[in-house]
Amino acid sequence: MYRIAVYGKGGIGKSTTTSNLSAALSLSGYKVMQIGCDPKSDSTTMLTNGRRIPTVLELIRSRRDEIELKDVVQTGYNGVLCVEAGGPTPGIGCAGRGIVTAFDKLAALNAYEVYRPDIVLYDVLGDVVCGGFAMPLRGDYTDIVFIVTSGERMSMYAASNIAEALKNFRSRNYARYGGLILNRRNVENETALVQKLAEETNGTVISAVPRSDLIQRGEEQGKTVMELYPESEIAESYRTLARRVLEVCKNE
Ligand code: ATP
Ligand code: MG
Repeated sequence: MYRIAVYGKGGIGKSTTTSNLSAALSLSGYKVMQIGCDPKSDSTTMLTNGRRIPTVLELIRSRRDEIELKDVVQTGYNGVLCVEAGGPTPGIGCAGRGIVTAFDKLAALNAYEVYRPDIVLYDVLGDVVCGGFAMPLRGDYTDIVFIVTSGERMSMYAASNIAEALKNFRSRNYARYGGLILNRRNVENETALVQKLAEETNGTVISAVPRSDLIQRGEEQGKTVMELYPESEIAESYRTLARRVLEVCKNE
């Protein structure tokens, strides 16, 4: 089982990239579990026809110890297993700690043993690598981290911080830095800028995804472009991304 976390600045395209990657990997025959680690709990909506699924934290609050695995793990497009960690009651709990609670619950319910995914993808909120949001960076949860960025300054700044955090944690059983995923915003010199960032972070740009209106069209229907437009250029770029991600994982 490969455990992969996808990080990146807010709004950069983590959930879009992760969902299409999950879809692409599942279409190559892998059993994939996607875990949204974001209080917005919208990571998997493109895999579930736009339907929101109950979050682990919601279920803990409403049912306490009577949660069953089938309540938290829902089957989405092409058999992708969808989980949303969820968030705390606004104004009361700590979102980071909530992620830890959700992870503990998944482990207590033997989610990985029962479903036996080949690949687990964590879609993690944030440029903040503090508290619970840093949890998926730990070696007990994740093997490899990919960072989504465009050539925009703020997203590269966030990517650099995340890569730096991984470097600082490296000696303490943290995940390995797998590289950057360029999600294009078509800013000037974008390829060169992100390539330079990769060098500065001792990583590589593993793949690039073009900007495409098909993403929004899919979003409106709660579907990935892998499902709706498999022949498109952007779907092809996600298939390439899936291949590159697997190569990096296998080079462990
Ligand atoms: P958050 O941090 O809020 O969870 P995110 O990083 O998960 O955000 P997404 O929700 O995946 O980001 O994407 C943000 C917006 O950017 C969405 O409206 C999505 O449609 C759009 N988007 C992402 N990638 C692309 C792309 N390659 N082409 C066109 N639009 C895109
Ligand atoms: Mg998201």
